[in-house]
Amino acid sequence: MSEQQQAAFIDSMWQDEIVPTLVDYIRIPNKSPAFDPDWAAHGHMDRAVDLFTGWARGKLTSLPGSTLEVVRLADRTPLILIEIPGSDPASQDRVLLYGHLDKQPEMVGWREGYGPWIPRLEGDKLYGRGGADDGYAMFAALTAILSLARTGKPHARCVILIEACEESSSDDLPYYVEHLASRIGDPSLVICLDSGCGNYDQLWLTTSLRGMLGANMTVRVLTEGVHSGDASGVVPSSFRLARQIISRLEDEVTGAILPESLHVQVPAERIAQARVAAAALGEQVHGKFPFTPGMKPLSDDLTELVLNRTWRPQLAVTGAEGMPAFANAGNVLRPATGLRLSLRLPPTLDAEHALAVVEKLLTDNPPYGAEVTLEQLEATKGWNAPKLAPWLEASLAIASQAAFGRAPAYMGEGGSIPFMAMLGERFPKAQFMVTGVLGPHSNAHGPNEFLHVPTGRRVTAAVAQVLADHWMR
Ligand SMILES: [Zn+2]
Repeated sequence: MSEQQQAAFIDSMWQDEIVPTLVDYIRIPNKSPAFDPDWAAHGHMDRAVDLFTGWARGKLTSLPGSTLEVVRLADRTPLILIEIPGSDPASQDRVLLYGHLDKQPEMVGWREGYGPWIPRLEGDKLYGRGGADDGYAMFAALTAILSLARTGKPHARCVILIEACEESSSDDLPYYVEHLASRIGDPSLVICLDSGCGNYDQLWLTTSLRGMLGANMTVRVLTEGVHSGDASGVVPSSFRLARQIISRLEDEVTGAILPESLHVQVPAERIAQARVAAAALGEQVHGKFPFTPGMKPLSDDLTELVLNRTWRPQLAVTGAEGMPAFANAGNVLRPATGLRLSLRLPPTLDAEHALAVVEKLLTDNPPYGAEVTLEQLEATKGWNAPKLAPWLEASLAIASQAAFGRAPAYMGEGGSIPFMAMLGERFPKAQFMVTGVLGPHSNAHGPNEFLHVPTGRRVTAAVAQVLADHWMR
């Protein structure tokens, strides 16, 4: 079988099998446990697992010796583990391929006729929640391996791990990694298919991920709400105090995070790669976001924007409590203001250190003696890729050229994949190929999420190339 036939096989798998199966998958509202605490009773997660494993089992018949198991630890989300023997049965060498099947919640703002659980295939795009983040991963990984088997190209033992708790900070995953330690072994290559791409024109490799600190901050000033005409000017507003406290953390004019100890020195190599990535992306660095008319990005300097979103701490307030919706907002001085703080952390910053800094900063000396509480305060560490081995760098260059007709690009991602930090610490000698299909406007976590199908196909081909080169190295 020629290279062309291998590409044709991958294309036909996507068209005839992967896209139709993802269409069924998008219909399942299998939200991650953080967004559906009753997930086990609802059964959606099991339906998604059944859909995935039903498809995979059918394929494994052509990969002799391979096994699939749905591993279930008590009170934890299930995990799919697929093991495919390597071409040399005596070798302990192995590759770990990672993805997840749990989903983000619905989110508002879907266009008319579109929705999280409504699959819509339009041209190159498959709309709906979870197709790109990260439903396609298992299908891409297995198809890449199948394409090698078909062409008779050797590869190392492959362990595909699909978890169902990623969107809940992978809370269950450490238990499975521990439980399955002997089967995961000591991989020399980790392939993660849950990341992003700067455009759909070349292969994008993720060089770092930010860590993440979350906290529900509540500022309480009264035991119950009172007439605002009566109390304002006497009772300090809890909203104003919340603003004041957040200003200890963030400069409200520039968005800069103020404590020096929440920043790190950005490695020179990453600054150089950020320049290249910014040049490749051009205006897309900010143009990919759905700005309202007249709205400008944080800076005119594209490299600075890349570094801001990949190596600097940044705050988002992602939720609120204690504030009625407009229709129910009377003239009340409310007793408390609660805000969900979501602080992205630099890739190499120690998460425990960040927790201690933020907790002290926000709760020490509350203004007017207000009651400030932080609940669900937790942090996960980011990740910075180890230095790329020459064989992998060469392989990625060939893979990108073959699949996209362009050289690959390297950039950090602003998001977090807690598993990567865990693996990076556990397997310090492993090489990493972290990539994904979350490109411009694909909008994972937001409304109108889509999977760019041609990118899915090309990433699959790139994975096949890297697996083949990994064996040959
Ligand atoms: Zn994901």
